[in-house]
Amino acid sequence: MKLVAKTEFCLDGDPFLAVVEQPGQPFRGPSEHRACLAPAADSTLLRDARVVLVAGFDRLSAGMVRLPPDLAYLRSGDVVRFHPARSEIRVLFRSSSSHNVLFLTERCNSRCLMCSQPPRDVRDDYLVDDILRMIPWIPKSTTELGITGGEPTLLYGRLLQVLQAAKQHLPSTSLHLLSNGRLFRYLRYAERVAAVQHPDMMIGIPLYAETASDHDYLVQAAGAFDQTMLGLLNLGRVGLRIEVRMVVHRETYRRLPQFARFVARNLPFVAQVVFMGLELIGYARTNLDALWIDPADYQAELERAVDDLVAAGLTVGILNHPLCLLRPALRAYAHQSISDWKNVYLPGCVACAARDACCGFFTSNATRPSGHIRPFADWPASCDNVYAASGPAQPSHGYRSARDNGSRPSGNRQGEDVVSSCRSAESRLSAIP
Ligand code: SF4
Repeated sequence: MKLVAKTEFCLDGDPFLAVVEQPGQPFRGPSEHRACLAPAADSTLLRDARVVLVAGFDRLSAGMVRLPPDLAYLRSGDVVRFHPARSEIRVLFRSSSSHNVLFLTERCNSRCLMCSQPPRDVRDDYLVDDILRMIPWIPKSTTELGITGGEPTLLYGRLLQVLQAAKQHLPSTSLHLLSNGRLFRYLRYAERVAAVQHPDMMIGIPLYAETASDHDYLVQAAGAFDQTMLGLLNLGRVGLRIEVRMVVHRETYRRLPQFARFVARNLPFVAQVVFMGLELIGYARTNLDALWIDPADYQAELERAVDDLVAAGLTVGILNHPLCLLRPALRAYAHQSISDWKNVYLPGCVACAARDACCGFFTSNATRPSGHIRPFADWPASCDNVYAASGPAQPSHGYRSARDNGSRPSGNRQGEDVVSSCRSAESRLSAIP
């Protein structure tokens, strides 16, 4: 599913947001923010709308935009951004989805080897402007919203504005804020976020190793481990709910048990720990050879890590892992975690009895899924799966760790400018009153 598409515009001017509506339906905002979805080029609809989105092939007149086939799924309540100069429509919110994300910034102060959204040093203040405009239009029945970037905490006051707007207009909507946690090393920052008193917010913080050298290497930022750990402790101290996120790949899988024991002993206050599969896009694709391992080949380490965390009383989740790649004991921890707009299943999944319970694959992973995909004959299953019945995982491709042969990836040089430009933002935060 695409969220951005080029199309034919018969209007110009600055970019603007609009809520998609069917003709004759009640609208939540003023008409200048209405995009009327119509089967034909009916100019009378412009009396109550800023723009008419024409689904048919009629000749367009002033104020009309062709609905591109890639966005034919648009429906009432969706929010889109029109960019006339680029002839582009971008979908910001889909009322039918539970995977909507507020994307706050492209900038980041880390450059993780597996980053799926490589940072860019661009002026993107308009992103938060758009989000603050859009939040009042989002239905109060929305169950969950993600907040992500880039690194949202770089925005400080603007992030707080978004949290406050969400609390005011969407008090029943869960927020899941993704952050590398490094700026929460400033206790005052954590206190300010806690002071918003959002009723249902979780902060997801990646921790990729139990040692500073490994974590700093994986996020390509010296001192990041200490900063993130201090951030985690500060967030726990002010009572915010925390999710620790570990991405499993060739550089992290061997020490999953040690990582789990470290978290159990030092971060017992976190709400949950999740193990995530690699999304093969962005820097993860750049570093693919160094990071890729078939998930079937780290099941033993993953099971030990999950066992230790569960024994310590922590809540555990496994994200982005197809069910047939997980050992039977791990399947209960799996979630359908992949956002609907980038989620696919393989042709063989059609016959799988677990299809409705399985997360499937990222679109970007479909060309390199695993050598162990096996449809289930029935679900819930005992051990009818070929891989699960074959016993402990065995490396399937003569794997050797980059750590073993000294061929670690050299890092993401393209992110250096971004990191240096974020330092000024960080230094301002050190003086939070
Ligand atoms: S075969 Fe079944 S369990 Fe495996 S990825 Fe496809 S739907 Fe999921």
